[in-house]
Amino acid sequence: MKKLLVIFIAVLAFSCGDNKKTDTPAETRPIGSGVEEVTPSETDAVANLQIEGNDQMQYNKKEFRVKAGQKVRLTLKHVGSMDKKTMGHNWVLLTQGTDIMEFGQASATAEDNDYIPKDREDQVIAHTKMLGGGESDTIEFDAPPAGTYEFICSFPGHVALMKGKFIVE
Ligand code: ZN
Repeated sequence: MKKLLVIFIAVLAFSCGDNKKTDTPAETRPIGSGVEEVTPSETDAVANLQIEGNDQMQYNKKEFRVKAGQKVRLTLKHVGSMDKKTMGHNWVLLTQGTDIMEFGQASATAEDNDYIPKDREDQVIAHTKMLGGGESDTIEFDAPPAGTYEFICSFPGHVALMKGKFIVE
């Protein structure tokens, strides 16, 4: 009985030690090495954006803000489990003045082109692949000139719920 208790405590102590491990990198980061001067300018230059789509036909974000001229790195993750044929999600950034409902309707007939209508590609600033549950895709593009843009999922019927603003300042 005593032996079991000792093992139990040992396991507890071990798992505590393990948790602490994840905290250490911040403390052990070198100070004044010059590395920190480089990092902020790099993170300024690239806007790292993340957005998720789920099985309930929803994005987890309605708005992004970036600076004009900034490089944008955007990752879309489908956090659901449904197939891309029934609950596909992509992220499509459209030019100003594009009617998102019209674009969504046109994309319904563009299954062969990942639901991006070929005759409307000039209205697309950037887009990810169409994803199914568990998949993700990362794209890079230059932020367009200052203004407010709209993004959508162009899977048939999704634009009504899956849309948001992309604001360039
Ligand atoms: Zn979708």
